[in-house]
Amino acid sequence: MKIPRLTKSIFLDQFIYMQLVGVLIGLAFPHFLVWYGFATEQVLTTEFYILTQVAGQVVGLISFLMISLVIRPHLKTLSNKMQDIAININSKDFLDYSEKCNENMCAMEVVSNDEIGISASAYNELLNALMSAHETEQVFNKFSKIMSESLEVQTLSEETVDLLIGATRIEAAAIYLFKNGEIELTSTRGITDADKLTKHPSVMDAVNKGRAQKINLPKHVQLDGVLTHFTPSEVFIEPIDFKGTHLGVMVAATGALMADEKTRVILQLFSRSMGLALNNALIHSKFQRLAAYDSLTNVYNRRFGMARLKEDFARSTREQSSLSVIMVDIDHFKNINDTYGHLVGDKAIVIIASILKNISRDGDVVVRYGGEEFLMILPGASSADAAKVAERIRHQVKDTIFKEDNQQIVMTISVGVCGYPEIQVTDEVELIDKADQALYHAKQSGRNRVVEFARLKNIA
Ligand code: GH3
Ligand code: MG
Ligand code: MG
Repeated sequence: MKIPRLTKSIFLDQFIYMQLVGVLIGLAFPHFLVWYGFATEQVLTTEFYILTQVAGQVVGLISFLMISLVIRPHLKTLSNKMQDIAININSKDFLDYSEKCNENMCAMEVVSNDEIGISASAYNELLNALMSAHETEQVFNKFSKIMSESLEVQTLSEETVDLLIGATRIEAAAIYLFKNGEIELTSTRGITDADKLTKHPSVMDAVNKGRAQKINLPKHVQLDGVLTHFTPSEVFIEPIDFKGTHLGVMVAATGALMADEKTRVILQLFSRSMGLALNNALIHSKFQRLAAYDSLTNVYNRRFGMARLKEDFARSTREQSSLSVIMVDIDHFKNINDTYGHLVGDKAIVIIASILKNISRDGDVVVRYGGEEFLMILPGASSADAAKVAERIRHQVKDTIFKEDNQQIVMTISVGVCGYPEIQVTDEVELIDKADQALYHAKQSGRNRVVEFARLKNIA
């Protein structure tokens, strides 16, 4: 039965209906007494009608007051809390508000199993879902920031793993990416022997087929091959793909706390977005490579080489350490071009570059300085050390027989060496200039030789 609404307030309607019931009871009560056996002249009097009316109204009022005291406070609390959320949800202070809610200050106490209790527990559930969605959004915002701010694969991977552990129930994670066809560990937290993990069949499967996997582990079982700092209870393996290409895999493990829906959602979001971000980062590093390397010889180009030398020179002067440069120029190179053609000339340049690279040690830098001129930067090497290296290069070039169309081509090089601080120069350009002067002398004095600028000075 639906009782018609009278005003805009349900409580006011309730009050009016209670008063009407009071009036009806007041009117019916004297007749009930007559039926019961009371004398008509005693109860069907004006005074008695007034009395029963007053009693009816008082009962109506009391029942209204009882409803207001018993039911209304619960509804009031619920409506206040809901209103609070409605006001805060769109404000910039929602973060503070959500912190308050995380301390359980927004939840409703469920005190009954009727509609009010059901409303309170439904409100709590909605609140939890809202807070969880808000948290996920916050995490994803941070993640988007990482994805958009960094174009370095290493930084991207490390920050993603950190965020995953900080924001979800994941306690250990690792990211593996393909490098030259091999899957390689890029970043890890909490997995002590992450290198071995790539051998695990489930990980291999995710890598090869791009298939997500979830392994539930009974409490006493240690994941074969994985040595975490804790006993993992679940291990998630999410492939990192971009447009159907497998770029790598993300492995995440939970410990005592099992993953919840939020963890799962974040894991999937991370692995999907990482595909795009990594693709961008890989393109960026390819561009960086293109910008730094000479395409013919695959050694650094002049622009990058000069930037490196500037940094190395600044470090040497700051730390008072040695720094030497070697300038190499192929002797009579025009002849090779003229005799065998430009393409053969190019191959000859590539051979010289590979000899320089093979002889260089870790930390040395080989630069294609000009057409058939190379610069080698040797941080920590004295002029004499550099001259020894230069001699080895000169010998190796001279002894290398370059075969082209049944022809044997023998090349020689002239080399100029200059070392700091033996030679006090003010900047890296002067260091190169002095090595160039030494090279000029090597050419002048017959080619196929190494000249140290320091000795040149002594002779002069
Ligand atoms: P020198 O002994 O005095 O150095 O004689 P050179 O003939 O080597 O003289 P120079 O160093 O001045 O000659 C450089 C020549 O190298 C000129 C140019 O034709 C050639 N060259 C420069 N860059 C390239 C290149 O990328 N490929 C080829 N094939 N030749 C190049
Ligand atoms: Mg030259
Ligand atoms: Mg030359």
